[in-house]
Amino acid sequence: MAMDFTLTQDQARLAADARDFARDVLSRVRDATAHLATPEARFAATRPFYEQAIAAGFLQRLIPAHCGGGGNGLVDMAVVAEVFYAADVNVSLTLFANLLGLMPLFLAGSDAQRARWLAPFLARTGAPLAALANSEPGGSANYASGVAGGGTRTVARRDGDEWVIDGAKQWVSSATGWDGQGADLLCVVCRSDDDAPPERALSVFALPRQPGSVVLERAFDTLGHRAHLVPRFRIQGARVPADHVIGELGGGKALVDASFTGTAALVGVMGAALAQAAFDFALDFARRETRGGAQPIIEHQAVGYALADAKSAIEAIRSLAWRACWAMDAQTQDAYELALHSKIFGSETAVRVITELMRVVGIDSYDHTLPLAGLLQDALALPLFDGGNMGVRRRQLHDLFRAPGAPA
Ligand SMILES: Cc1cc2nc3c(=O)[nH]c(=O)nc-3n(C[C@H](O)[C@H](O)[C@H](O)COP(=O)(O)OP(=O)(O)OC[C@H]3O[C@@H](n4cnc5c(N)ncnc54)[C@H](O)[C@@H]3O)c2cc1C
Repeated sequence: MAMDFTLTQDQARLAADARDFARDVLSRVRDATAHLATPEARFAATRPFYEQAIAAGFLQRLIPAHCGGGGNGLVDMAVVAEVFYAADVNVSLTLFANLLGLMPLFLAGSDAQRARWLAPFLARTGAPLAALANSEPGGSANYASGVAGGGTRTVARRDGDEWVIDGAKQWVSSATGWDGQGADLLCVVCRSDDDAPPERALSVFALPRQPGSVVLERAFDTLGHRAHLVPRFRIQGARVPADHVIGELGGGKALVDASFTGTAALVGVMGAALAQAAFDFALDFARRETRGGAQPIIEHQAVGYALADAKSAIEAIRSLAWRACWAMDAQTQDAYELALHSKIFGSETAVRVITELMRVVGIDSYDHTLPLAGLLQDALALPLFDGGNMGVRRRQLHDLFRAPGAPA
């Protein structure tokens, strides 16, 4: 295995640009959004920051080169995600959700489809949004199930030269766009054949913005990621031409699973970023605060050891997550397994570490004036989203281990 964690010159430049952007722009998102009462208002207030991220090229630079962007894969994404997520999860997730939303095109789109739909995302102007619409009311852990009335219930029915899409989706990042009428591009997971076996019953359809066909029901008022939009919405009578199927008709399950594999590796990076931000704060606090005693609290062995354990865990998440991203880019045999470990271990360890660092800082950490409570709220999403660790990700590992020829 040839692995080297040294960044290329391009990656080092990307990291430096990301650090500058996080310091100058993303650090201001919280003050601009936290006081606003509704999720819609908070999301709307992120738009100027998001537009700056687009103008600075952070989307164009991460779209893979074979699709016209400047990106070389998940390690590039990890470079940006680690810096951005520590500064602000909201604009960061809106940005990264585009990459998930466009992933079906990256993986299986035809040249003509990519040329038609990727242009706004490569342009470095405006505030383009894409989303992969999989999750539905009633659950998505069993989205590919063939049980009657279960699994994906959004349907695509053939009508002449067109497909007509009807259904309900929820929790899909940015899906209803800035005005509630739909993102610029939705890749919608639909049941396209009721009679096919479960693994051939689903397809992914490109649904470019079509006001009237996407109806916002409500934006979730979430525990963390408070200024990122996750709506519940209906798709009603959306008509798309036959050539809007991405990849093979009936190949939706494989395409969705593949799309969510890269993001699994990245969630570990997000966990490392949030835990590191908590650590930086707790270490500084421990060095400067005496809490009325004779010396800074870092002089207490209990505090020092707790910080040591936290940092060990962060280094472990970071190493695993970066290795998983590298393995995905190199397409090594163990890439899928590593991506799953990165998702599960990275997300759950981040939650644990931030909680332990709150104990180090003590009662003041329970106030939102300090960053730790907010970091914990944001981190709590990591085990739950991008395929819940219980309902999806551990099952995927379980399937991998029990399959013939399971990895040693
Ligand atoms: C900020 C944010 C952004 C998101 N962005 C997107 C997006 O862009 N696109 C999108 O489609 N979704 C998105 N989601 C939704 C989310 O990724 C999924 O809906 C979620 O991960 C589904 O996982 P789940 O296991 O909780 O599913 P559910 O189906 O709700 O399952 C709930 C629970 O049931 C149990 N369970 C169910 N089935 C099984 C089983 N077979 N075996 C064992 N246990 C089971 C588990 O305990 C599981 O935790 C987002 C969510 C958030 C919070």
